Amino acid sequence: MVEWDDMENADKLFNIRHSLAHLLAIAVLEKDLGAKLGIGPVIDNGFYYDFEFSNGYTPTPEDLKGFEKAMRKMVNKGLPFEGHEISVGDAKKLFASQPYKLDLINEFESEGKNLTIYKTGEFDDLCKGGHVDNTKEIPADGFTITHTAGAYWRGSEKNTMLTRIYGLAFESGEALDAHLKQMEEAKKRDHRKLGKEMELFTIIDEVGAGLPLFYPKGALLRKTIEGFISEQQEKRGYKDIWIPHITKGTLYEISGHLDKYDAMYTPMKIDEHDYYVKPMNCPHFMMLYKTLQHSYKELPVRYTCTTTNYRNEKSGELSGLTRVRSLTQDDCHVFARPDQIEKEIDLMLDMIKEVYAGFGLSDFYVRISLRDSKNKDKYIGNDEVWNTAENALRDIVKKTGWKYEEAEDEAAFYGPKLDFMFKDAIGRQWQLSTIQLDFNLPERFDLNYIDESNEKIRPVVIHRAVLGSTERFMGVMIEHFAGAFPLWLSPVQVKILPISEKFAEYAGKVYKEISGAGIRVEMDDSAESLGKRIRTAKIEKVPFILVLGEKEVEAGTVTVEMRGKEAGETHSLADFIEYTLDDIAKKAIW
Ligand SMILES: [Zn+2]
Ligand SMILES: [Zn+2]
Repeated sequence: MVEWDDMENADKLFNIRHSLAHLLAIAVLEKDLGAKLGIGPVIDNGFYYDFEFSNGYTPTPEDLKGFEKAMRKMVNKGLPFEGHEISVGDAKKLFASQPYKLDLINEFESEGKNLTIYKTGEFDDLCKGGHVDNTKEIPADGFTITHTAGAYWRGSEKNTMLTRIYGLAFESGEALDAHLKQMEEAKKRDHRKLGKEMELFTIIDEVGAGLPLFYPKGALLRKTIEGFISEQQEKRGYKDIWIPHITKGTLYEISGHLDKYDAMYTPMKIDEHDYYVKPMNCPHFMMLYKTLQHSYKELPVRYTCTTTNYRNEKSGELSGLTRVRSLTQDDCHVFARPDQIEKEIDLMLDMIKEVYAGFGLSDFYVRISLRDSKNKDKYIGNDEVWNTAENALRDIVKKTGWKYEEAEDEAAFYGPKLDFMFKDAIGRQWQLSTIQLDFNLPERFDLNYIDESNEKIRPVVIHRAVLGSTERFMGVMIEHFAGAFPLWLSPVQVKILPISEKFAEYAGKVYKEISGAGIRVEMDDSAESLGKRIRTAKIEKVPFILVLGEKEVEAGTVTVEMRGKEAGETHSLADFIEYTLDDIAKKAIW
């Protein structure tokens, strides 16, 4: 497995990024002494700083280049960062001409927090730290100022709109170049662009934001992915169930969703009761288990259902298939005896590994997502139960020898989880599979099984989704493969192009045989020129294009143009079909 540099150097990189935000503020003040400063935090891949320029000025791309140049000068000068505590009174004097800083000072004062300031050259900033000791530690070629955007002070529309200046920063010039290249590559692979070109899906205003519709090719891709999951589940003993999409509020009172889960839509009235479209499926699974009698002998009970949930995501956060309001989960809940936890989780881990190998994703790490220990009100269940669950997950992960990290404040409200972070073809990381260990919902739903001595015992619930959501997974896969899916996943696996009408009969015969073998094949015998039809098939990224003419008819062969290869190869039809079926069965990654 590749080392994840960004995890090991997290602190160092944080300090570099945050120090650069200070330098950006200095550069801005050098140009506009009257600029008002907001905040300058570290973000993914870099940093930003918010400013209010004098007289409503908006910096130009030239200005941004100027800031970057000035920052580079400061880096080379070797300026130290020196921090010390300061009293509220002194801080108010120091930042008398900075209204946003005064706003922060007042807030910290009311919260009884200590104030610290950091000095770089002549510049003081109110800041709680995380800096380099000296700007010399910042690689001069490892950062760049990229763009600006409007941002309200404290994110509220009631406040002034400030100018947010963004920068990228890495531990070296090479790392920055690699990131810029990755961004460029990501743009080419954007699933929203490819989804349109390849006629996979669409999102239209009349249906609503975050509610994607799938064209036949997109629906086929869905079906293929979900079919693979269902095959993998069946062989591991998971049983399909089915549940409705709207549900009486009573169920979510029992589960705690009404109290703790904020992405639910406003309910509708049916027979004077509140009904909700479901945001999650767990409560329904609990009810199915509860309404049957279970003995210790029949545990574990493994229920699964691929079903759509509806969540009230903010419109500003919606994006293509990766952030939607209708998301389909390959959801699964296992009801187990406590002594079965490890074996059941192992079975899930085994499935996750096998499934992801089928998509050519083998580079991953596990995040153990724990409670926010400072804000326990967000969760149901007591400390003891949480500690047991968190420790159990930690032990299981340690045994696998896989790379892992622990993250506070990432748990579900009913239990800790394992999140699987996969690296795609261009090195981006995605959170996909998840396994959650839950001692709380069984309690709330009063679930039990009968043990050897005829006593009622509480089972444990393990929640699991391998794809996470089909929509998001498809978005990730479209970008991972840049639309050039391996044969087994391709909506259209073979496209037949007869050179002219004269060969229509032979083409028809070839079509029938390929289709009869269970291969997804399309015929393009339109009046367009052969060149144009080949170009269209290439835009669709069809793995095999068969060009049929005089030569093929006479010899009873097919000439195959394989995606990504220059010259075509001629084979007997039987050989071609055999090769294709074999490649599909192996789920070969192209
Ligand atoms: Zn700072
Ligand atoms: Zn669940």
